Amino acid sequence: MASILAPDRLGPTVCVGEILVEIVATTVGDGFKEAQPLVGPYPSGAPAIFISQCGRLGGSSAMVGAVGDDDFGRVNTDRLKRDGVDVSTIAIDSDYPTGSAFVRYRKDGSRDFVYNIATSAAARFGWSDNVRRLIERTGHLHVMGSALSVPSAREVIDQAVDIVKARGGSLSVDPNIRKELKLDAATERRFATLVAAADLLLPSGEELERAAGVEGEANAIRRLFEIGVKEIVLKRGADGATYFDKDGNRIDAPAFIVEEVDPTGAGDCFGGAYLTCRRLGMSPEESLTYASAAGARNVTVRGPMEGAGTRQELDAFISSTERRS
Ligand code: ATP
Ligand code: MG
Repeated sequence: MASILAPDRLGPTVCVGEILVEIVATTVGDGFKEAQPLVGPYPSGAPAIFISQCGRLGGSSAMVGAVGDDDFGRVNTDRLKRDGVDVSTIAIDSDYPTGSAFVRYRKDGSRDFVYNIATSAAARFGWSDNVRRLIERTGHLHVMGSALSVPSAREVIDQAVDIVKARGGSLSVDPNIRKELKLDAATERRFATLVAAADLLLPSGEELERAAGVEGEANAIRRLFEIGVKEIVLKRGADGATYFDKDGNRIDAPAFIVEEVDPTGAGDCFGGAYLTCRRLGMSPEESLTYASAAGARNVTVRGPMEGAGTRQELDAFISSTERRS
C-alpha cells in the first residue's frame, strides 16, 4: 500500500508549539492550596512530547517554539537534542521564563492545573528567517490542536502548511481539544481548515466527532473522508486504537496490558511513533503496533515524555508485554 505520508527523506517532521516543564504532585488530592511534595521539572508540552517520540524512533525531526534562558528551558532543549531532534529553531527568550504546568491528580482521575503558558517564553516566538529555512525543507508538519490557542504558533502554522504542502510534504493533525472547550470563531474555522487538509488525523475519543462536526463514530469517519482526510487513527486509551482508511479498511489494535502510573503524554507518544513509522515506510499495521507500544510504555513512567521509547526499547517492550484481546 503506497503511503499517503511524505517519506522521511523529503525532510524532517516539524512540530510547532508550546514547550513547557511539568511539575507533578506526588500525592492525589484537591489542587495546590497547601504545601505538598512535588516532583519535576519534567520536559513537557504536547508538541514537544510528540517530537521527542519521533526523534527517539529515529525519524528526522525538528521543533519550533521557545524557552526562557533558564534551567527549565535547558531541561527541554537538552532532552530533545538527546532524542535526536533538531532544536536550532527553538528560540531562547531572554526576557520571559520557560512555560510551566503544575499538575495534581484527583481521586477520580481528573486533574487540577496551574499553568503559565500565555505569559511565558512558550508563547513568544514566531515566523523568522530561521524558521522559514526549516519549513522550506520540511517533509511533514504535525499540528497539535492545543497549539492553536497560542497566537505565535498559529502564525507559524498558517504559513507553514502551504509551504510544506506545495513541496509535496504531508500534514497530520491531533485535535487535542476537549469536547467542552469552546474556541473563538476564528480558531474554530482555522481548526476546521486544518482538519480538512490533514493527510492523517489522530483524534482521541470524542475529538473524532468534534473534528467531524457530526455524532456517531461511523458517521464521523465517513464525513472526515468526504472532506478530504486520507487516514484516521482513533485513540481509545486502555481500549486500544483503530486505523481507518478511505478504502474502507479498518485495523483494530488492542492495547498492551500495563500498570498506568501517569497517563499524560500517551496520545502524543502514540502519534509521534505512528507517524514516524509510517514515514519510515512501515505498514499501517506495523506502525500501529509501535504506536500502541509507545503510548502504553509512556504511561508506566512518571513524567509526560519520560517513557517515550527508542526502536530498541519498543521492540523489547513489544516482545515482553501481553496485549488485551
Ligand atoms: P493524552 O491523554 O496524552 O491526551 P490521548 O487521549 O490523545 O492521550 P490515549 O487514547 O489516552 O490518547 O492514548 C493513546 C494510545 O496509547 C492508546 O490508543 C493506547 O494504545 C495507548 N494507551 C494509553 N493509555 C493506555 C493504558 N492505560 N494502557 C495501555 N495502553 C494505553
Ligand atoms: Mg487520554
